[in-house]
Amino acid sequence: MSIDYDRLEPIPQRDEPYHIVVTAAHHDDIEFGVAGSVARWIRDEGATVTYVIITDGGAGSNDPDMTREALVELRRAEQDEAAARVGVSDVRYLGYPDGCLQATLDLRRDITRIIRETKAYRVVCQDPTTYFVHASYINHPDHRAAGEATVYAAFPSAETRPIFPELLAEGYEPHKIGELYLNLTQAPTHYHDISCAIELKMAALGAHASQIGAGEDYENGAKKWVMQSNRDGGKMVGVDYAEYFRVLKFDAERKSWYEEEMERRQRAAALK
Ligand SMILES: [Zn+2]
Repeated sequence: MSIDYDRLEPIPQRDEPYHIVVTAAHHDDIEFGVAGSVARWIRDEGATVTYVIITDGGAGSNDPDMTREALVELRRAEQDEAAARVGVSDVRYLGYPDGCLQATLDLRRDITRIIRETKAYRVVCQDPTTYFVHASYINHPDHRAAGEATVYAAFPSAETRPIFPELLAEGYEPHKIGELYLNLTQAPTHYHDISCAIELKMAALGAHASQIGAGEDYENGAKKWVMQSNRDGGKMVGVDYAEYFRVLKFDAERKSWYEEEMERRQRAAALK
């Protein structure tokens, strides 16, 4: 599957205050993937953000001297710091076993609860349809499971009263989200120019020292690789650094898909 980069639109700026829930399978997924966008949404648009880290991160080391318990604690501290560096203070840890995640109803309920509680306008998650990335990466099954559970929490679970009646009993009323953003996607519709936030993104990524090292190791390893990847993404759409999303919108006036496609082509032509 090849991506037609000329068809991608820039993510529009949002003027009203809003809340975002970002879910990810692992500690550091957000920093590798979407922290540049998160930084811009907070700084440029005043958005408030909740991170939901689904697994406990306990599989993130092959060091025989590292215990799972110590690693789980260390990775939480690193994730809290990474979040703080882009301005996120609300980080939820769901504690599912790292490396064996499945999109169960329990997980869907846990995410539904957070979407209802925070009344998120935008939900950001990993695209569950991504099996392979470029020519060298098999997408981690935890990423796909996290994405699937989040997509179905966003719809239909969050907005449908009879689903998960136990959440009503806990006081969480149904809530309809406005937008779903999928990252790690092979079918992007939008790009986000993160040039002004690339340093913040790298600062956040650098908090995960147990995973990507520190100092020279970080500078010449993960930092170089992620910057290169975002620079490549930027080149494809004519900006310095970019992140990509497949965007679904639920709050727009519903039109026929033909009408939407014609409008999209007009906007794309106007940008050229
Ligand atoms: Zn991951």
